[in-house]
Amino acid sequence: MIRLEHVSKNYKTSTRPALDDVTVDMDKGEFVFLIGPSGSGKSTFLRLLLREEVPSKGKLYVNNFDITRMSRRRIPRLRQSIGCVFQDFRLLVNKTVAENVAFALEVIGKPSHTIKKVVPEVLELVGLDGKANRMPNELSGGEQQRVAIARAFVNRPLMLLADEPTGNLDPDTSQDIMLLLERINRTGTTVLMATHDHSIVDSMRRRVVELAFGRVIRDDARGVYGVGR
Ligand code: ADP
Ligand code: ADP
Repeated sequence: MIRLEHVSKNYKTSTRPALDDVTVDMDKGEFVFLIGPSGSGKSTFLRLLLREEVPSKGKLYVNNFDITRMSRRRIPRLRQSIGCVFQDFRLLVNKTVAENVAFALEVIGKPSHTIKKVVPEVLELVGLDGKANRMPNELSGGEQQRVAIARAFVNRPLMLLADEPTGNLDPDTSQDIMLLLERINRTGTTVLMATHDHSIVDSMRRRVVELAFGRVIRDDARGVYGVGR
């Protein structure tokens, strides 16, 4: 599903590598937390998987795509196999909840009868049936993140990448969002979540991959946020 072999990433403007000789594997259906302090390389890791950046060294495979060798014209297909969720939701503010989700399908050319069928289904899955015609600014933060998750998942991607998805939410709402991500994970979707949220990592006891200065310093099968802290 995800395989990095001795991957390094050097940005032109930076002297030290953002990722430094990273080797890690993630299987289909896994739930993995990616942790580490600010600047440790988490965002770079996620951007490499989406081929928003290319590795400076090493080999990288995502959903059977050979990222280091693939042609530009295959990038859209790679990205269709990966759903993304962010801290700041990134909803289209002039579209309703349903339109936000539908838009993700329109841009990849899904026919309207499919869209009409699957949008209500995914809104129900995320607990937003009844809110289909609301505008994003009429929703709570937790509800907005549910819309973002619905949009990321509606195309049934193989993998969901979540970058600090609970970073703007209170603890109770964060727990609800984690239950939803677990539910999506149980459908067989691999979930990779970058986070600073200690209590969530500690309560979920899932695999934890920890970065420091661009290197993997820990990879625990049922990890907690801080060892001995
Ligand atoms: P994190 O997401 O863990 O905060 P990043 O991947 O954003 O870490 O950053 C890792 C290192 O790479 C940091 O030193 C950061 O300043 C640097 N970096 C990240 N993006 C860029 C970029 N586009 N250009 C130059 N340096 C970058
Ligand atoms: P976060 O960790 O919250 O995801 P970052 O601070 O790592 O966000 O990065 C936010 C954006 O700024 C990223 O898109 C990244 O490309 C860019 N960035 C981060 N560090 C640098 C840097 N040193 N030079 C240039 N761009 C950077």
